[in-house]
Amino acid sequence: MIYNSLNHLSKSETFKEAVLKGIASDKGLYFPSKIKPFTKKIISNLGKLSIHDIAFESIKQFVGTSIPSNKLKSIIEETLSFDFPLIEIEENIFSLELFHGPTLAFKDVGARFMALCMGFFNENSTEKITVLVATSGDTGGAVAKGFYNIPGIDVIILYPKGKVSLVQEKQMTTLGKNITSLEIEGVFDDCQDMVKKAFIDPQINKKIRLTSANSINIARWLPQMFYYFAGYQKVSKHKLPVNFSVPSGNFGNLCAGLIAQKIGLPVNQFLACTNLNNAVPRYLKSGVYDPKNTIQTISNAMDVGNPSNFIRVQKVFNNDIHKLKKLIKGYSFNDNETKKCIKNIYKKNKYILDPHGAIGYLGLKKYTEKYPNQIGIFMETAHPCKFAEIVEKTINKKVDIPRKLNKTLKGEKKSIQISDYTQFKEYLLKS
Ligand SMILES: *Cc1c(COP(=O)(O)O)cnc(C)c1O
Repeated sequence: MIYNSLNHLSKSETFKEAVLKGIASDKGLYFPSKIKPFTKKIISNLGKLSIHDIAFESIKQFVGTSIPSNKLKSIIEETLSFDFPLIEIEENIFSLELFHGPTLAFKDVGARFMALCMGFFNENSTEKITVLVATSGDTGGAVAKGFYNIPGIDVIILYPKGKVSLVQEKQMTTLGKNITSLEIEGVFDDCQDMVKKAFIDPQINKKIRLTSANSINIARWLPQMFYYFAGYQKVSKHKLPVNFSVPSGNFGNLCAGLIAQKIGLPVNQFLACTNLNNAVPRYLKSGVYDPKNTIQTISNAMDVGNPSNFIRVQKVFNNDIHKLKKLIKGYSFNDNETKKCIKNIYKKNKYILDPHGAIGYLGLKKYTEKYPNQIGIFMETAHPCKFAEIVEKTINKKVDIPRKLNKTLKGEKKSIQISDYTQFKEYLLKS
């Protein structure tokens, strides 16, 4: 499999090179040069195959010869080591819980898969790789856990001091070993700016081999296909059209769903659901893509004004907006609607949504009013305890923290304080 840059100004790369580079040298995102559908036999057996088998079948063409089959199978087994329960919260409306991974974030799958691929690629190299990642909270923990103890790879996480939740901070700062966390004086954008600057700093690049771990990387983005197969398997027996509602920020998750559909997953409709950062739903209405500055909301993992992966979404349809509009419907909701939804669903169904999942639910509900007698699956992308402050105030009840977080919460926080780029650079050059 060959990957081309969507800016078309740099050369094509294999899976391995595209993963190690992250982004092409012309700053374009990598996109697979062709996408081959499943055979009819696999499609008719989707309901019966194990999730590990489907994952292998779906991703192998994208990995190509970069990883031998047996190794790829073991990477998949290690990545998908937990379940994705599908909970029917109302008739024909299902929550696909993607938060049962090690850091309770749906990003666990992408982060772990990417870490294991990179570890394999770097196995026989004497050169260390340093992963730099800026986070507003959720990504940092998932990346830290995913890369923990992977030989030959160091991870440096930059997060805004005092602006992440307690759980998130503990997840980033208690592991140690090859994971280091830097507490940055500033906001998330300052962290991101420092990372961007480091990537083009010749002095740093001469000394350190840097790479990134954000959802632009194909190894973090593509394995999210697995969720859609996992969800579909559990409802295929109903023989009704299946719709997926995806709470979206950077649009990596939705785009992975589109790839799953392209290789044969029978999806009737995708719903792109956002908070007030709604460049894509507005585009679906007006046909004009007009991104705005990022607005802060309570579903903050989706606070993205100008989603990086939208260019990939367009590419899936060869930039044909009519085809795109046929398969994707857009919805956007504000914080009040989100809170009201969390409250109502708890009251009515005793189910606790987190603010991101709530937005997925709301979109699905709107769609179902118009198109009943179909199956609707919304992605529940975070455990409600990760957004406990908002959820607890909204439902007037404490949210239990899963036992597997106990160890993390008891761990001792270790971080390094950084106030500006000069200090950050100094740190990188001496480490
Ligand atoms: C990252 C994230 C999202 C958005 O996913 P994208 O692939 O960026 O669209 C949604 N919910 C949660 C909880 C997230 O962490």
